[in-house]
Amino acid sequence: MSLFSTPAREGDRSLLDLQNPAFISDLHLTLEKPDTVAGFIRFLNGPALEYRELVILGDFFNYWIGDDGASTVEPVTEALIRYAETGRRLFLMQGNRDFLMGRDYAKRAHATLIHDPAIARIGSLRLILSHGDRWCTNDPAYQRVRTRLRSRWWQWCALRLPLSKRLKMAENARRQSRAEKVTKPREITDVVDNSVLAEAHAFHASIVVHGHTHLPAVHDMKDGCRRFVLPDWEFQGPHCLRGGWLALKMNSLVLHGPEDFDRFA
Ligand code: MN
Repeated sequence: MSLFSTPAREGDRSLLDLQNPAFISDLHLTLEKPDTVAGFIRFLNGPALEYRELVILGDFFNYWIGDDGASTVEPVTEALIRYAETGRRLFLMQGNRDFLMGRDYAKRAHATLIHDPAIARIGSLRLILSHGDRWCTNDPAYQRVRTRLRSRWWQWCALRLPLSKRLKMAENARRQSRAEKVTKPREITDVVDNSVLAEAHAFHASIVVHGHTHLPAVHDMKDGCRRFVLPDWEFQGPHCLRGGWLALKMNSLVLHGPEDFDRFA
């Protein structure tokens, strides 16, 4: 980590030129959930090999206390490296849980850290990619916290605390977010179409891909814009309870669900 390293500023902002990508998000990986980790590794060794690029749109990890704490997810990192070594490309975006993930970790995992939002091109399709929480604009309290946690000074200070202290802070944040999820209605925590459209228009994108809300769906919005929402992932034993990916099928994007994991096995 360099002296002035602040992960919020480290994502690559250049246009992503994709050939045949798969998009995933919200796996919430932690070694405390070994079934989901194993499910993801099976995905890398199976379905993910059908594609040229794997694009991970945030909350890949359940929490992230800094790239210097990455040893806790070593089996996942090794699986990513093996995937990249097949010649496929890996892209990582920060979510609201792993917003401290930086370029050091991306490099270690043989991935490219990309900015939120990222603009991508697949042939003639132009996409805007985001974790999605930036568009939860009906929740000003959340947005205020989000802005603070992404500020350069907050990250600079946080990353200089001892790992044990950062671990405690992450635990507290997760506990608070769980409590808020119970009390906040969906109208507050979901993304706001007008906020999405404003940014999609600004970047001339007609396809939007995001996660975060755990409400997988395809929404046709105004002006011919289509919004794909990725699912979160959870496995129990070898069984996929929730999960999936977005990929091209005959030139249009299709969401794959839990049933599709076995189809590739
Ligand atoms: Mn999220």
